[in-house]
Amino acid sequence: MLAAVFEGIDNVALREVPVPVIGADDILLRVDAAAICGTDLKIVAGSKTRGVRVPSILGHEIAGTIVDIGAKVSDWTVGASVAVAPVIACGCCLYCRSKMGNLCANRRALGYEYDGGFAEYLRAPAAAMAAGNVFAIPNGLSPAAAALSEPLSCCVNGQENMGGIQPGETILILGAGPIGIMHLQLAKAVPETRVIVTEPAAERRQLARDNGADIAHDPKQSNLFDCVMDETAGHGVDKIILAVGLPDLAADLLRLARKNGAINLFAGFPAGSQVALDINEIHYRQIHISGASASTTAQFGRALDLIASGAIDADAIITARYPLDQFDCAFENARQARGLKTAIIP
Ligand SMILES: [Zn+2]
Ligand SMILES: [Zn+2]
Repeated sequence: MLAAVFEGIDNVALREVPVPVIGADDILLRVDAAAICGTDLKIVAGSKTRGVRVPSILGHEIAGTIVDIGAKVSDWTVGASVAVAPVIACGCCLYCRSKMGNLCANRRALGYEYDGGFAEYLRAPAAAMAAGNVFAIPNGLSPAAAALSEPLSCCVNGQENMGGIQPGETILILGAGPIGIMHLQLAKAVPETRVIVTEPAAERRQLARDNGADIAHDPKQSNLFDCVMDETAGHGVDKIILAVGLPDLAADLLRLARKNGAINLFAGFPAGSQVALDINEIHYRQIHISGASASTTAQFGRALDLIASGAIDADAIITARYPLDQFDCAFENARQARGLKTAIIP
């Protein structure tokens, strides 16, 4: 089969490799769509190395069709369309027992620890089957849309970690890349919310407006603090989502939140990043700060439902599609941050 094989920093090569051989508890998928994620860009650039095998097949936002099932697999049939949650939890560690499989002490991921979806075929291993990582795609949903369940489920996790978004709240999102836009769509799916998006790139500000942003703020043109205070009668916003991994931005967020407001540091930062915070702002103003790491299978299911119901418009987020044999062009498109999400349709 054809596969885009990660062979080292800045080196992904199209290769003919054997179709994966499945065991009795595995299934084999024909990959119908695999979207490129910021994590893939980081791995290829060499800035994410933990757990990454070389060589390996990347791609963890995956939808496909079952073409073969192991002898002991009874609850799936050949021909079914499925989406696969990539984070495989052990089911028995401290975190798994608390329904936080995303934080599993023994987690392994499709897309670098196991071979991923930038290939014609993918083996969903027994561990993924046992952990409930395979989801049937509802009728009529395109594979590319279903593949977005993964990044969307991470956004669901981030928003749940900050206490969810409530009707009528005002939300500030920093960054209008694919993740910022998914957060925006999730926030606008809650009744009567107002969303301010701040983003320096004009093309992405337009995408934010197209996806329902009430205000698309340009940080090069005006001061974000003034914009937020004007919009909130001087109180600050209810919720803030940082969807760009710039440490300096994190320090500025405290005074943009209203008292008892919540901040989710959604994006990852460069290793070792540190910022100085006025911790009395957190204390006296009761600011809630949370993080976000991957998602649980339950959140993956909720994300797939949100896409299938139309509450999230996946087609507005997937702005480029390439066949697998044009992987180089697809990857460059994603690297240049053109549009929003780039999908490989093998
Ligand atoms: Zn991803
Ligand atoms: Zn675990």
